[in-house]
Amino acid sequence: MAKLTVRDLDVRGKRVFMRVDYNVPLEERDGQMVITDNTRIVETLPTLKCLIEKGARVILTAHLGRPKGKREATMSLQPVSVRLQELLGRPVSFVGDCIGESVEKAAMAMKDGDILLLENVRYYAEEEANDAGFAAKLAKVAEVYVNDAFGAAHRAHASTEGVARVVTGRGGVAAAGLLMERELKFLGDELENPARPFVVILGGAKVSDKIKVIDRLLEKADSILIGGAMAYTFKLAHGIATGKSLVEPDFQATALAAEKKAAQLKVDFQLPTDTVVATPVDTGKLNKKGKPVFEMTQVRVVKGGIPADAEGFSIGPETAAHFAKIIQGAKTILWNGPMGMFEDARFAEGTNVVARAVVDATVKNGAKSIIGGGDSVKALNKAGLGDKVTFMSTGGGASLEFLEGAVLPGVAALSDKR
Ligand code: ADP
Ligand code: MG
Repeated sequence: MAKLTVRDLDVRGKRVFMRVDYNVPLEERDGQMVITDNTRIVETLPTLKCLIEKGARVILTAHLGRPKGKREATMSLQPVSVRLQELLGRPVSFVGDCIGESVEKAAMAMKDGDILLLENVRYYAEEEANDAGFAAKLAKVAEVYVNDAFGAAHRAHASTEGVARVVTGRGGVAAAGLLMERELKFLGDELENPARPFVVILGGAKVSDKIKVIDRLLEKADSILIGGAMAYTFKLAHGIATGKSLVEPDFQATALAAEKKAAQLKVDFQLPTDTVVATPVDTGKLNKKGKPVFEMTQVRVVKGGIPADAEGFSIGPETAAHFAKIIQGAKTILWNGPMGMFEDARFAEGTNVVARAVVDATVKNGAKSIIGGGDSVKALNKAGLGDKVTFMSTGGGASLEFLEGAVLPGVAALSDKR
């Protein structure tokens, strides 16, 4: 059933306890922690503006990094409160704790439209343990619960699940923020009955990471295009040489079973026909982690098997062109996982060709294009095409689990629409 959203709420004068994803990248400069990318803060602005307009008193809670239950000065959310204030163009107060007297005092002093950010909720080990007593302490200042942190919704933690249960348990409501609402719409509702043809593009490193998604989407998709290192395990299962490529020998049977299911369901299942490979040469140097550093030499395209001295790093040009053609005819596209090691420009072209085809289908064909997965989003942004698709998930691991069909605890805890 559809979940209640902030749009449905009457919150004038009420204290809204809102979980957000402010897990932003920070860098130390001259002894100060500086935010290097504020995307996650920007993404909460629509929900905040909606709540401010409705006259709510918004208490924000979030985690930053992995302080493991200790106060780590470098993981304070204080710099986030400063940045949020700049972006929002109105005062944002900050308290150096997330529970206790200081929080209650600040919360009671709030006026309609005020914003208060609490300190890193993971300074308490009870957060990740979803401790009931801790959830009750957090909930002390909450009259209404809102979750806009889709990226943390796959974890049943106190601030993502426990507080919602406390609030609804005493007759209050728990609603999705606008960002969460969009994630549920595009990764959920839109894929329930997709406009056809529905083309699914899957890549990334491992079959084991993506098998549940493949399995579920086989029941919905018209075409599934497989790229990335994942493709090499399929090759291996067919007895084709994979050289030094990343493979998962234990998942060959899984790969074959997926292909068999595709044939039964008459899903067009496409594997790469050519590969960009390189010959890794040990430089004799070690990286920061003490692992040997390899130099990739003799970058070239091979068809069929991969030579014994070579490692596959991307789909080849023939595969990319073939995939692009299928994508250009799509009405719905779901893409999870890059087609190669796009971080290195020599292996990015296959991913970029696919990215341009996705944009083409969106612009010229009116297709809905949905991108899930942290690295896929990075790849699209790197190609400068991030704003040309219908939807890019902010979820990372949460979007993958949601696409697998899992019930996310942070979503399950929200109130249903009446
Ligand atoms: P997402 O985050 O979008 O779900 P994944 O995390 O599954 O994607 O996979 C992305 C990673 O897979 C990237 O870091 C990329 O470099 C790597 N990758 C893709 N293809 C290859 C390949 N052929 N060899 C090695 N690594 C690869
Ligand atoms: Mg990833």
